[in-house]
Amino acid sequence: MSTFKAPKGTYDLLPPESATYLAVREAIAAPLRRSGYGYVETPGFENVELFARGVGESTDIVTKEMYTLTTKGGSELALRPEGTASVLRAALEANLHKAGNLPVKLWYSGSYYRYERPQKGRYRHFSQVGAEAIGAEDPSLDAELIILAHDAYRSLGLRNFRLLLNSLGDRTCRPVYRAALQEFLRGLDLDDDTRARIEINPLRVLDDKRDSVQRQLKDAPMMRDHLCEECKAFHEEVRTLLTAAGVAFEDDPRLVRGLDYYTRTTFEFVHDGLGSQSAVGGGGRYDGLSEMIGGPPLPSVGWALGVDRTVLALEAEGVRLELPPTTEVFAVPLGDEARHRLFALVTALRREGVAADLSYGSKGMKNAMKSANRSGARFALLLGDRDLAEGVAQLKDLESGEQKSVALDRVVAEVTATVR
Ligand code: AMP
Repeated sequence: MSTFKAPKGTYDLLPPESATYLAVREAIAAPLRRSGYGYVETPGFENVELFARGVGESTDIVTKEMYTLTTKGGSELALRPEGTASVLRAALEANLHKAGNLPVKLWYSGSYYRYERPQKGRYRHFSQVGAEAIGAEDPSLDAELIILAHDAYRSLGLRNFRLLLNSLGDRTCRPVYRAALQEFLRGLDLDDDTRARIEINPLRVLDDKRDSVQRQLKDAPMMRDHLCEECKAFHEEVRTLLTAAGVAFEDDPRLVRGLDYYTRTTFEFVHDGLGSQSAVGGGGRYDGLSEMIGGPPLPSVGWALGVDRTVLALEAEGVRLELPPTTEVFAVPLGDEARHRLFALVTALRREGVAADLSYGSKGMKNAMKSANRSGARFALLLGDRDLAEGVAQLKDLESGEQKSVALDRVVAEVTATVR
């Protein structure tokens, strides 16, 4: 063992489990690719101000959780804690929104970093696949994204997840509601920290998990009773489209998101097998964010799904993904001459698209066959002195144990046909 360990709150992805992570990423990305979303990749770090905008509690939360650094040149950077701000920054910087083809639909996949208190399902380095539809105020986009996330989870075989849905209003109705909520909260028996929160971000008080707080919130005014006509109609349309697509949801009037740039549609996918870190993905509309980072008004909607937690959800439901075999044919040479011949055959097989591997080092037959079995390959390709003299190799079916001789110059064609 080395004297080094993965930093606290992080873990390494290793085979064979790492194959499941790749498959999850791919399963989330596939429906997006089929729906007009283009792949975007942004740097792992950005200027700190992109994430820590303005003042207020939500900025506070972001700042506390961020890994920041000062470069040798004196720039203040942060490892990205989320994808939305970076993707929007990239789209604005490249003027994608001016190409006259709104919405700009983008998807991404990568590592994110938050300085959090680690626990199962909550890490300091984690993976997300995300999608953003930038520059259109159309409820079909909200519904489209939610349906794509739902279908991705389903395609993985997940069943025990739920979709929570809410609307946070817009810049017309949210301030009126916020004032009504503050008025109500000021009359409650709350500790000083919570009182302070009433003035900065009262919606987050609704999210307080403590019984003593929740008990007093029974009659709190709810956003849904304060939505303006436009927001109401928008939300109704999202609900109608989801229902028509067979996507079940639960109205959750208390669902608020940590960041204050969210407007209107907000949603979270939760999985019931994950304990306290139950959110597997979430997102919503962020109509005000573009202006906050110096862009034009660009109403947008997006989500990010957590890859780590999706893998945990698969484990919780006992779902095993059907993954393609990493190796289809495992070659076992006995002797130097055989090694040369098999090395060339393995190279040729790989060029034909067959997943082929070879026993390396000078392992004896027994150990080499152990490697063949461990590789998960269906076939072993054996070559010894006598085979060489006869100009053949032995193709062994590791499941049935059957073995047949194949002429060396026919191996590539024969093996390729057999594994297809
Ligand atoms: P958020 O941007 O916080 O809504 O995160 C979107 C999704 O990313 C969540 O639903 C989680 O699945 C995942 N996620 C967020 N933070 C973490 C973390 N610290 N560790 C693992 N997954 C996370």
